[in-house]
Amino acid sequence: MRAMVLDKPRPAEEQPLQARVIPEPTPGPGEIRVRVRVCGVCHTDLHIVQGELQMHKLPVVPGHQVVGVVDAVGTGAEGFREGDRAGVIWLHSTDGKCEYCSRGLENLCVNARFSGYDVDGGYAEAVIVPVAFAHHLPKNFSDEHAAPLLCAGVIGYRSLKLSGASKSDRLGLYGFGASAHIVLQIARFMGCEVYVFTRTATHKELASRLGAAWVGDAKERPPRELDAAIVFAPAGPIVLDALRALRKGGTVSLAGITMTPIPQMDYSLLYQERVVRSVANSTRQDARELLELAAEVPVRTAVTLYPLEDANRALADMKHSRIEGAGVLRIG
Ligand SMILES: [Zn+2]
Ligand SMILES: [Zn+2]
Repeated sequence: MRAMVLDKPRPAEEQPLQARVIPEPTPGPGEIRVRVRVCGVCHTDLHIVQGELQMHKLPVVPGHQVVGVVDAVGTGAEGFREGDRAGVIWLHSTDGKCEYCSRGLENLCVNARFSGYDVDGGYAEAVIVPVAFAHHLPKNFSDEHAAPLLCAGVIGYRSLKLSGASKSDRLGLYGFGASAHIVLQIARFMGCEVYVFTRTATHKELASRLGAAWVGDAKERPPRELDAAIVFAPAGPIVLDALRALRKGGTVSLAGITMTPIPQMDYSLLYQERVVRSVANSTRQDARELLELAAEVPVRTAVTLYPLEDANRALADMKHSRIEGAGVLRIG
């Protein structure tokens, strides 16, 4: 099967992924094979191909926002049949028994494995997933519009929950890519007023079009204090910008898997019970809730399609904020 393979991490502009034909995988017990139609491109993929995360497996096929059709079912795999549409998320498997799994925090499982990182992912014509970690997708989404929900949407949704934002709150979004453009729609549906901080002109336009109450640069102070904020940009200094805009007792949640160092700050910026918290991965329950909510809103994802072989270009475009909404690879 065709796949985009990473042998050695390099900057996205240097074509780190190589188009190659690799053996087609076979599902084991409890697993299904998904014939990939589309796979979303995520910032985590960019961090992986550029070597900004510790590598778990090389060579590796990235990709963890897969939409496809089941074409092989392993023994004992229940819940999906051949021909069913299926979604694959970042969380590939857990041990189901560690301290964190027992606490309902499978996103923190000590033996968690991740799609396109610990196991080959969806930048390929087929992918294997344990059936318990595959998701049925809402019917009112086309393949390409569903793909960005699977990580950008899910992690954004978890970040929104952990920010504590609720009805009538003023929510700040720092950075406006695939995840934020979905969160904005969900937050508005919940009754939040959304303030978007981004430098990129096309992202400002998209935010306004989707109903942002205010749009500005990260350094700007919004006209009113924020009740909650989510930082999507992987830049530590922005955490301080968000704290400066936050009311007493508000929370800033950090959605990224990595970030440049957060600068030293005066305690006064955090004092008055402001909270800064990170968000790590997400649970299957987060994915189920997000998919249901996305269908109810309904969320309209903005997508730019690339052929599989242009995965390097898609990653470079995302890196340089040239994509409006989400980048998606078309494969099958
Ligand atoms: Zn566990
Ligand atoms: Zn992701």
